[in-house]
Amino acid sequence: ADEATLDPWGSSTIADYRKLFEQFGIEEFDEVLPEVPNPHYLMRRGVIFGHRDYRPVAEAMRNDDPFAALSGFMPTGDPHIGHKLVFDEIIWHQQQGGDAYALIADLEAHSARGLSWDEIDEHATNYLLSLLALGFDPDEGTLYRQSDNREVQDLAFELGAEANFSELQAIYDFDGETDISHMQSVVTQMADILYPQLDEPKPTVIPVGPDQDPHMRLARDLAARMRYFGVTEAFASFEADGVERTLLRQAYDAREDYAEDADRPRCGEAADWLREHQPAPADARESVVAKLDEAGKEPLRPRIRFLDRNATDEAFEALIEAIDGEKRVYDEHIDTFDLDHAEAEELARQVELDNGGYGFQPPSSIYHRFMTGLTGGKMSSSIPASHISLLDDPEDGYDKVKSATTGGRSTAEEQREKGGKADECPVYELYAYLLSGDDDEFAKEVYDECVGGERLCGGCKEQAAELMEQFLEEHQEKRAEWEDKLAELDIDLDS
Ligand code: SF4
Repeated sequence: ADEATLDPWGSSTIADYRKLFEQFGIEEFDEVLPEVPNPHYLMRRGVIFGHRDYRPVAEAMRNDDPFAALSGFMPTGDPHIGHKLVFDEIIWHQQQGGDAYALIADLEAHSARGLSWDEIDEHATNYLLSLLALGFDPDEGTLYRQSDNREVQDLAFELGAEANFSELQAIYDFDGETDISHMQSVVTQMADILYPQLDEPKPTVIPVGPDQDPHMRLARDLAARMRYFGVTEAFASFEADGVERTLLRQAYDAREDYAEDADRPRCGEAADWLREHQPAPADARESVVAKLDEAGKEPLRPRIRFLDRNATDEAFEALIEAIDGEKRVYDEHIDTFDLDHAEAEELARQVELDNGGYGFQPPSSIYHRFMTGLTGGKMSSSIPASHISLLDDPEDGYDKVKSATTGGRSTAEEQREKGGKADECPVYELYAYLLSGDDDEFAKEVYDECVGGERLCGGCKEQAAELMEQFLEEHQEKRAEWEDKLAELDIDLDS
């Protein structure tokens, strides 16, 4: 992937996280950290380094309001210590009172990665066992697989009506050869992300690696597009001048005329009819269109496009109702154009809910660093020595740590004199990301001793290897306990 595209299915390492802040508008997590009650150690240690719109989640946590956290796992191999970061993030949000969702992205694994259903079943079981062994509470949380969740499929279909091919092409580099299932798996993933809000809108956080950010941007976009009161919301979010207000009023009046006109054209021509019957001067209209575009809204879009090829009377009546609804909302809120953005969002959402819409809040995300491979470079599922699988024999885990690359100097003497390079050391990462657990003092001690030259790599690795062995033993014992209970859970593991 080059600078401007992040490829969620590629294997590029994001070498310079800073670019993400600048190019994609991901914010630094440090800025929101003080607002998070009892932050997780991955947050405190900067492993979770960025976020998009995490404030509403932190606020809900502080106020004991509802919020949710969701993550999907693509069952393409064994879960390893890199995946543990995401498991931990979901579990932590659950422990903070959030509704936690974990799903098996089997449709995506099948369509985007070409795995057989048998392979998927096996890996899915392994992911779930590790998630449960690490502390996910299945009684409080929700586990599902994409292919079994009818509500997700239905929502995906609706979301699909709001996205088009060129858009997916631009985001995911799709081309004429891309198969349809792959595109379907994208809208399914969008539906997963919004699924926690289906019954009730609430702040929702999706913990991801930075390579998943394109999914997040699309999901946030689609959440906004699902509002059929989009025009009201867009208008509320910027200051409209007099001409524009008049124009909007006229546009709504035109729609009302349309709704009342017995000879109104049906469906496909409805958009043209509306456009023709707007008496406003062309330049004023252009200006409104430009502003709506800026706010990410299509102008005057009462779902006509969707109805083009679905011209049942019922659908048509729904359209008329939507137009009436927007008019009513507009009349009620004409005086609220100077709301600030958050107030306008809230108002639009409430209005939408009152009128039977979804009222989705744009989903938030947090971004964690990728773990460095034990052999240097990227940690990769396809290079066994580079990672420790959560299923690895504990002794193999021990051996892998012992053979890991370090940030040590070439001689013990030099290390004592100059100190080790903990910041470039995969072994230190193991301490910070996993082996120190919640104990900041211990992680800091390892760091300080290393850079101060008091710690030498041989002993440091021995200690890490022993801790890793112990972790794997305990983890696998817990997995074994869950293995017996797995059948009782409400999730079907055979496709
Ligand atoms: Fe890494 Fe430990 Fe060596 Fe420091 S002493 S470079 S943390 S292995």
